[in-house]
Amino acid sequence: MIKKLIRKLLRTGKDGAPESRTEPVVIQAVQHRIDPVRVSNNAKRVTQTLQDAGFKAFIVGGAVRDLLLGVTPKDFDVATNATPEQVRRLFKRAFLIGKRFQIVHVMFGQDVIEVTTFRGASNDNAKKDEHGRVLRDNTFGEQHEDAARRDFTVNAMYYDPATQTVLDYHGGMADLSKKVLRIIGVPEQRYREDPIRMLRVVRFAAKLGFSIDAACREPIPLMAPLIDNVPAARVFDEMLKLLLGGNAMDCLRQLRQEGLHHGLLPLLDVVLEQPLGEKFVSLALSATDERIQGGKPVSPGFLFAALLWHQVLEKWSEYRAGGEYPIPALHLAADDVLDTQTEKLALQRKITSDMREIWALQPRFERRSGRTPYKLIEHQRFRAGYDFLLLRCESGEIDADIGEWWTAFLQGDSAEREALLTKKNKPGVEGAAAAKKRPSRRGGRRHRKSDAEVSASSGDE
Ligand code: ATP
Ligand code: MG
Repeated sequence: MIKKLIRKLLRTGKDGAPESRTEPVVIQAVQHRIDPVRVSNNAKRVTQTLQDAGFKAFIVGGAVRDLLLGVTPKDFDVATNATPEQVRRLFKRAFLIGKRFQIVHVMFGQDVIEVTTFRGASNDNAKKDEHGRVLRDNTFGEQHEDAARRDFTVNAMYYDPATQTVLDYHGGMADLSKKVLRIIGVPEQRYREDPIRMLRVVRFAAKLGFSIDAACREPIPLMAPLIDNVPAARVFDEMLKLLLGGNAMDCLRQLRQEGLHHGLLPLLDVVLEQPLGEKFVSLALSATDERIQGGKPVSPGFLFAALLWHQVLEKWSEYRAGGEYPIPALHLAADDVLDTQTEKLALQRKITSDMREIWALQPRFERRSGRTPYKLIEHQRFRAGYDFLLLRCESGEIDADIGEWWTAFLQGDSAEREALLTKKNKPGVEGAAAAKKRPSRRGGRRHRKSDAEVSASSGDE
């Protein structure tokens, strides 16, 4: 009933496509049913302060979309006709940031409200790269122009908390009720201006359970290579949003479906093609999604370590087959994988060092005698390493026994721990692999230590 009323109100075009307009459709509270309790007080404070100073100000973008879907938004953006400088002067703690698009961060303790000035309609004069990607554009304009510059119709609605009205310029309400993501304007042109929009549409489709409008979807496989020209840091930010949004598994599935995963995480292409690798990645992503949905923190380092583990495993065995000792071979494999990866993704140093640590801990779980396990549980990254180990067990990469042993050791009292230490353990993968294959270095000139000796001597690499 309400949906019908809204559709009528929206006057969609012949084929159901939204008509672009300079005057918005104004939707009242009785129709849109946004629950004001879900609206952040800080966002209200910002719009109110701007309006009191004589400016227009609205909550905009994903926050309005989520409110209309009955979801509490995780963050709030505000759009206004005040310039960044005028915004900054109105608040005690406000900072101008960004080059490509200048915005203002208004801070309330830890909470940040992002305030943007309405963008102008044309970016013809904006600085672009040779592929047409907009590099910098700070032309300000009217609200309807700002609406046309947004990515998808459902992301281009404005909510005024004071009057509780929603302004809809591009048929966002109709698309929201149809659960469709539709890009505003000509899809090819919009992807060329900003190829990240291709990743965004996939992320929103997975997150919201929406379909992608055919015209919006069709150019993606052809235009996907444009993502290569986007600065790595921006691709990385989007990847993080994709992987840490609580729907990583669906996002990845959708990326593959749209042919977008190639080149994004280059090594992931290979990993996903091996059944064991795919199982491991699926488990890691499901575990991450579960943690996020349960409000628990997740570490990007752990996630990326998991995504790339099977590539590390492959390289590791190559180095070992070439005659390297296990531990140095693992480090060399990690270097290779990270080198290839960081060409595309600007993995921050903190993340890569977390990844290295998690990987380097893995062979240490093999040593289940003497004082080493006691030392290992004191390691500051033990927990991450142990969770990683459990994933390896669960995926069938290694014997479940080793994970169970560590769980028992962790939970046990001192007598139980001593009993575990004296128990005859099955050899782990390291031991088993070494028993099968003992490659010689340069024709076997040098004496190779056994893996047990390596394990014992490289206790704290
Ligand atoms: P999320 O729930 O992930 O925060 P969001 O829609 O709020 O989703 P943001 O990245 O916070 O996404 O962006 C806020 C709004 O800014 C979007 O809703 C959209 O209107 C606009 N926007 C963001 N990125 C782009 C882009 N690349 N091109 C055009 N408009 C964009
Ligand atoms: Mg947002």
